Amino acid sequence: MESRVTIVGAGPAGALLAWLLSSRGIETLLVERQSDFEREFRGEILMPSGLRALAEAGVELAKDELLPLRFFEGWMNGRAFIQADADAAGGDFLPPSAVSQPKLLERLVAMSEATGHFSLERGATVRRIERSADGSSVLHVRSDAGDSKVEARYLIGADRRGAVTRRALAPRVRNRGAMLDVVWFKMAYPEAWQPGTARFVGGRGQLLIAIATADGLLQMGWVILKGTFGDLKSRSHDEWVAELWNHADSELADHIGRHAETITRPFLLNVVSDRVLGWASPGALLIGDAAHTMSPVGGQGVNIALRDAIVAANELVPAFSNGGDVDAAAARIEPARARELDVIQRMQAMPPRVMLGTRGIHALARRVASRFLSTSFGQARASVGGRLFFDGVVDVELTV
Ligand SMILES: Cc1cc2nc3c(=O)[nH]c(=O)nc-3n(C[C@H](O)[C@H](O)[C@H](O)COP(=O)(O)OP(=O)(O)OC[C@H]3O[C@@H](n4cnc5c(N)ncnc54)[C@H](O)[C@@H]3O)c2cc1C
Repeated sequence: MESRVTIVGAGPAGALLAWLLSSRGIETLLVERQSDFEREFRGEILMPSGLRALAEAGVELAKDELLPLRFFEGWMNGRAFIQADADAAGGDFLPPSAVSQPKLLERLVAMSEATGHFSLERGATVRRIERSADGSSVLHVRSDAGDSKVEARYLIGADRRGAVTRRALAPRVRNRGAMLDVVWFKMAYPEAWQPGTARFVGGRGQLLIAIATADGLLQMGWVILKGTFGDLKSRSHDEWVAELWNHADSELADHIGRHAETITRPFLLNVVSDRVLGWASPGALLIGDAAHTMSPVGGQGVNIALRDAIVAANELVPAFSNGGDVDAAAARIEPARARELDVIQRMQAMPPRVMLGTRGIHALARRVASRFLSTSFGQARASVGGRLFFDGVVDVELTV
């Protein structure tokens, strides 16, 4: 099969776009460096906006792939200030859900394979890209079978931040900076918690996130000030678990103490918030984290990546199918996504300032928040911030 489109990176953005293109008869090659999706630790939260993107794309997730998060609890300075139950929010409320990302990606790849217009190179790392004056590209790929070259008539980079495609297309990047890093790990789920619980524990300049996963575990994110992981890493497992224990509320601290042996090896997410200026160039396009790296605040990265794929398909499918001007179509994608990205990235910067700030004003803001913030799912959903984080900033609808 000679591919019309070559996509680098089978994350949510690349895999969904591959499905949307191949299912509309456009020959698509997907190149992915991992041979097994289970081997990467990735984002696992889908907001209603991301769930809707999948539903529109015709992707139905099985029960064991998706866990609705029905119970939200927020603690600050030792006081519970949010205790929200999605069931009380009314019948049409679609709660955020934990998704098994490896299963989602396997599903997308299997659906694409069934179209007959798709092929996947797994375990193939694109190491270098040569661009030609006519807009085509040559990818230098390394796999267990050795080194090879792939000629890409149209190249889509969906290979995340710092990606090889981003470097090759050499666009300008606007970096918003980020004051936090996140230490991610998983552990046993607390027996006493309702299934589908998410808890946020703030105070004393730290934030702990504990969220049920679709595979029955507890995913924990320990949000720390950027650059302080070195200190943490220099300590033994027992020492850093003791430090973590100090920041949990009493119930979670008890759970961590009793099940410390189930804690998986921690993974540091060096948080970045940036946006490429100029996603499209002749014969090439960037989407997903390759075009805009998202902070993990508010669980937006996967949703935004899926919504990029929908908008990209809306523009590219007609151009490829009708022999239209593909570069002109691709140039419309960034303007259609820019507003949502700017608003979400600006909003993502706010909570860390309050939660992690070391000045007196930040401590005061935390005290005020713990006293006065009290909300239900309905209120959160109705607030401006809630609506934007849950539903997205602009309407995104699949039109092809
Ligand atoms: C630990 C962690 C936790 C996160 N938590 C959340 C969360 O809870 N909610 C949320 O919404 N977001 C979260 N995020 C962010 C979210 O995972 C990303 O924003 C989202 O996955 C972006 O999708 P993508 O398809 O653009 O890129 P990715 O999912 O990063 O996929 C890129 C793919 O490209 C492949 N690749 C990279 N380089 C090459 C190469 N040279 N050759 C071939 N293939 C290559 C990678 O193996 C990968 O499969 C988290 C991220 C991490 C790392």
